[in-house]
Amino acid sequence: MTAAGEAYALFTSLTDAEPAGLWSAPGRVNLIGEHTDYNDGFVFPFATPHRTHVALGHRGDARIRVVSTFDTVPVEVAIADLDDLFPARRDEIAEWARYPLGVAWALLQQTGRDAASVTGVDLAFASDVPVGAGLSSSAAIEGSTASALNDVWSLGLDKVALAQAGRRAENEAVGAPTGIMDQMASMLGETDAGTFLDCRSLEAQVVDLGFARAGLDLLVMDTRVAHAHSTGGYRERREACERGAAAMGVPALRDVTIEQLPEVAERVDEVTFRRVRHIVTENQRVLDAVATLRERGPRAIGDLLTASHASMRDDFEISVPELNLAVDTALAHGALGARMTGGGFGGAAIALVDHGAVATATAAVEKAFADAGFGAPHLFTVRPAEGARRDG
Ligand code: ADP
Ligand code: MG
Repeated sequence: MTAAGEAYALFTSLTDAEPAGLWSAPGRVNLIGEHTDYNDGFVFPFATPHRTHVALGHRGDARIRVVSTFDTVPVEVAIADLDDLFPARRDEIAEWARYPLGVAWALLQQTGRDAASVTGVDLAFASDVPVGAGLSSSAAIEGSTASALNDVWSLGLDKVALAQAGRRAENEAVGAPTGIMDQMASMLGETDAGTFLDCRSLEAQVVDLGFARAGLDLLVMDTRVAHAHSTGGYRERREACERGAAAMGVPALRDVTIEQLPEVAERVDEVTFRRVRHIVTENQRVLDAVATLRERGPRAIGDLLTASHASMRDDFEISVPELNLAVDTALAHGALGARMTGGGFGGAAIALVDHGAVATATAAVEKAFADAGFGAPHLFTVRPAEGARRDG
């Protein structure tokens, strides 16, 4: 059964009624622009064909109930209690349910709407976005919830505002300190296009990728390595970026140019300098990738992807042997470019590959992992897909 069918079936088994509508939102892959978001810089993600679907129905009371194929025990609260639950008493809510209930809370906060002014709802979720594989299943459940509630509660919010509600839910209701890239990519995605996002102004541009026309696939290579040092490592990187910006007297590394790097080197220690150099050059690579796509097409961005990986491996030092092996092996077997994607210390890498070379590259990476004694990776292709929408 498709995930949409599963959401529908879960809804009808929960309520014995037909849903009022079906909505969905995709996961995302970051094409280029890593750790640039919290430096007020640029990112360039796209939406995946993997989606989280929600079937929604109205209730006769003022309560909200959520259920998911992940955990079939429904979670139900009074809409008027959301305000007390988040963030102070969030521990009382099953962790997964903090995402959709947190979105409901964030939407009411953001619009200033009174709980009594909205109708009770049941929401049933099903998804084919793999969790923790670098595809942001969290943004997908947030985006599907935000889209559905925006429609049935007639909130009139645009997609950027819905992305902001998703981020607020994740930061405050779930308690995960993430940026807004994932939610923007999931809300704004379009078929065979990426979302070029300025994380300072939140201005977003949809940029044609043209992978399909060029016969290219984006191969995701999930190493299945857990993000072992991610918390401490993430904090250390953020602090290094803040030190670098302070040393240059600017609010964020977004304001430092490549020409200023020699000056940075005089003002900070060697490790901090390399952290700064990654951010400054990565911002430029995002701009270059957008310009290159427009001027020369998708085959020409491969080298930028590979340069991004080298910068994360050598300067930002957030790669791991599994990610390096996936990237190097893909490149040795026909990939036009490859890089680790996501926060680092594990997770997934991506490779831009001719459709006809996907099978060879996949087999080569699987063999290289086996030869190195690493656990089996999970490889699959994605074509950039449409953002959040109503499906029925
Ligand atoms: P990811 O990288 O996949 O976004 P996160 O840790 O940010 O990983 O978010 C994953 C969490 O989001 C899951 O552990 C679960 O709590 C919640 N989640 C995502 N999709 C669903 C779903 N379809 N149903 C229930 N919970 C979900
Ligand atoms: Mg997430």
